[in-house]
Amino acid sequence: MVTNRTSEVRAADLEFRNHYRYPTGSVGVHVSLGSALCGFFRFGSSIGFGHCADGVTSESKNSKLPIVKTARSDDSGQLELPFDPNEVADNLRRERYYSSSTSQGSGILSASWIRNAYYTVRKFLPVHVRKYLQRARLADWDRIPFPSWPVDVSVDLMFEEMMRLVLNARGGSPLPFIWFWPHGHSGAMMLTHDVEEAAGRDFCPVLMDLVETAGFRSSFQIIPEERYEVTTHLLDSLRKRGHEVNVHDLNHDGHLFRERTEFLRRAARIRHYLQDFRAEGFRSAILYRNSEWINDLGCAYDMSIPNVAHLDPQRGGCCTTFPYFLGDVIELPLTTTQDYSLFHILQKHTLDLWEQQMKAILQRHGLISFNIHPDYILSRQNRSVFVALLASMAAHRQRYNLWAALPGEVNKWWRMRAKMEIVADGGRLTIRGQGAEQAQIAYAALEGDRLVYRLADQ
Ligand SMILES: [Zn+2]
Repeated sequence: MVTNRTSEVRAADLEFRNHYRYPTGSVGVHVSLGSALCGFFRFGSSIGFGHCADGVTSESKNSKLPIVKTARSDDSGQLELPFDPNEVADNLRRERYYSSSTSQGSGILSASWIRNAYYTVRKFLPVHVRKYLQRARLADWDRIPFPSWPVDVSVDLMFEEMMRLVLNARGGSPLPFIWFWPHGHSGAMMLTHDVEEAAGRDFCPVLMDLVETAGFRSSFQIIPEERYEVTTHLLDSLRKRGHEVNVHDLNHDGHLFRERTEFLRRAARIRHYLQDFRAEGFRSAILYRNSEWINDLGCAYDMSIPNVAHLDPQRGGCCTTFPYFLGDVIELPLTTTQDYSLFHILQKHTLDLWEQQMKAILQRHGLISFNIHPDYILSRQNRSVFVALLASMAAHRQRYNLWAALPGEVNKWWRMRAKMEIVADGGRLTIRGQGAEQAQIAYAALEGDRLVYRLADQ
């Protein structure tokens, strides 16, 4: 897995600038890799994976990571790094570290042929056997060192550390940037539901009642083929009440990404259903994914990549709590544990884990996203956990001024923000671009050694 790369110094500010949208030319990022090797390293409080001239290791265990020592910045806002932050962001978000890491799943379902056999017979297995096999396969989940449980913010922390270095060199002079969310909201929150079986589909009206009573709207991912009948009435009733419809896989057999030719055949069907459902978003079955193929699906946004996937059959995780571009597609990562994993793998019926995750995401001002299946909250016990979650979400929303949004709204905002610019207009900074009236200027500054953000006064 370790490869050489030739020596070069080059500009590499793309992803850092996309994250903050600071004024053009105010910061430069330069990379000097030397003959760096590829692996894990530590940069401030974040863990990176990529080529790094200050040393790397093939193991992601914290205690063994080489530390970046040669990062420097000067007072003109030029930052020089021994690694390429674009490469590192891409490696983490696209889970490229995973095949290189030692944290691969062991256990009875890890070999691919056994996994394929398992998903072929899965639907014939009694639920208690299925759950037993899943727990056995995931038994080592709490010993996986990377990504970090229960939320990994490596990409977000890398950008924060870069910002700290830039601000240090500016002698504490704050740097303006376009705030992450519209109207100065401190973070974002979205609720999604994958509809798995006919029983889940039939529960959707009650689910809408519960969600609306708590003051939210959510997105429903519908399986187009084989699982259950999808009627125009169902899609219309979801939309009429202000909820969103998205496509959930094609037939949910767990084989979407298994083979390229078959994938392309299915991708054409999925594109057809996106149009048919008037949907823009997609989530795959069982969060199976291949970030290199996502652009073939023709969706505007995908929601199939978990932040940390220790409890999912395909492990890994995108290590960020923010939306990001995968080519033309916006990825809206799933940043909290799925209800199925909470109830059936962890066997918990409390909000502790979800609230811990919300707290960690809010500290970075990221996107809180939930996937609650109507099929898994049919029992009175599970439903009461969901109702408690809705109350907790509503309390968080009010207390922290969160933006409760539909996935389509987050997609639209993130695309607009990526094109906005801060410009000086008669000695005053202002934001230009479509949607600028919703955007706000913020300042990144240092309090002692600590990075803080302040919204500019209106
Ligand atoms: Zn599903």
